[in-house]
Parts: sequence; structure tokens; C-alpha cells
Amino acid sequence: MRIVLLGPPGVGKGTQGRRLATERGRALISTGDMLRDAVAKRTPLGMQAKVLMEQGRLVPDDVMVGLVRERTLESDAACGFVLDGFPRTVPQARALDAMLAERSIRLEVAVLLTAPDEDLVRRLSSRWECPVCRRVYNTLSAPAKDGRHCDDHPETELRQRADDAEATVRTRLVVYREQTAPLVDYYRAGGRLKEVNGTGAPDAVYAELTAAVGR
Ligand code: AMP
Repeated sequence: MRIVLLGPPGVGKGTQGRRLATERGRALISTGDMLRDAVAKRTPLGMQAKVLMEQGRLVPDDVMVGLVRERTLESDAACGFVLDGFPRTVPQARALDAMLAERSIRLEVAVLLTAPDEDLVRRLSSRWECPVCRRVYNTLSAPAKDGRHCDDHPETELRQRADDAEATVRTRLVVYREQTAPLVDYYRAGGRLKEVNGTGAPDAVYAELTAAVGR
């Protein structure tokens, strides 16, 4: 199973993608997490990405395609993967199809998660993450057990992402609409698009998601 999770920032791609990948034994490939790791390690990629990420803008396509090309060749991705945050532009989607075709495999389905903008802004401003395992919590809908530390890393304090500040969120929503939303038509035209309402409780969204992707 190779799937892409599409949708605006804050719609739940990370939370749902993590659960789907874990339960199905597939690799979760989150390009946002890969970039945040590179920023934390101050690699050349991280230095390039940091400013763009803080502004809510996209990292160039060629950089992202190179990153995903290598990551999808790692052994844990051999039996399939869930992509969260990639592709984000039509050229990235075309490059993904081309790289998989070179390996005689294909992306089966792209799932679009949807929610109204007001929900997204509210969710992102109450989102906290574990800097160690990247598990995402939400103070409104999915708080950590003690409210401050990761359930899986009780020594580690949760933190908010720099790009979840409201002004940056607004930019990210504009970027999504202009550069990423056209992917919906790209995948619909190829007969690979499924839509899932992302506004319900996480378990209800997950049930709809698994029904959409099948076994
Ligand atoms: P995310 O965690 O998916 O919300 O990504 C956080 C930020 O990383 C985005 O706002 C972009 O700056 C950058 N980013 C992540 N994935 C991509 C991608 N596929 N193409 C370009 N930039 C990306």
C-alpha cells in the first residue's frame, strides 16, 4: 500500500497518517518532520529550509523530490508507505509518479482530508508536539495525560511549532490553496482521489480513512 495524505495544515494528516502507518506496518514519511530534524541538526538542508518554514513558504521542489527519492528507497518503505506533506505541488506529484514508475510500482490512492479554515486555525493554535518522537497532542481534543509532557517520553516537555503562530498559519493556508490544492484535480483526474471529512473526532476520521483506503 502506497498512499498520500493530502489536505490543509492542521487537518490531521500527521495524526491519522501515524496511526495508519503503524497499524498497517508501513513507513510513515513526513517531509515536515524530516525538515524539522534537519533544522535541529543544522545540516545544510536544515539551514536552507529553516527560513522558508518559518515564513510558511515551501522548500523548492527539487530539494523535496531528492529527499523523498532517497527516503522511499529505505528498507522500511519496501512494503509500502504513507506520505504526509508530500507532494505539495503538481511538479512534486509528477516527480513522485515518475520515480515510482521507474521502480515498477505506483501510488494507489491519495486521500484528501477536509475541514473549514476556522477549525484549522483553532486546531493549530492548540497543537503541541513531542520533540523526541514527534507525537502530536491537542490541548482541546487530544491532550497529553499530564498536560505538559509526552505520554511516551515522560521526561520531555511538549512544545509548539514556530510555524503554528497565527500569522504564519494564515500564510500556510494561502500557500496551500495556491500551490497544493491543484493536486486534488491531479489525483481526481487519475481516478486516485478519495475524500474524507476531517472534522470529526480522531477515531471517527480514522474509521472513514480506513474505509477509503481499503485493505
Ligand atoms: P508540515 O509539517 O507538513 O506542515 O510542513 C512544515 C513545513 O515544511 C511547510 O510549511 C514547508 O515549509 C515545509 N515542507 C514540508 N513538506 C514540504 C514539501 N513537500 N514541499 C515543500 N515544502 C515542504
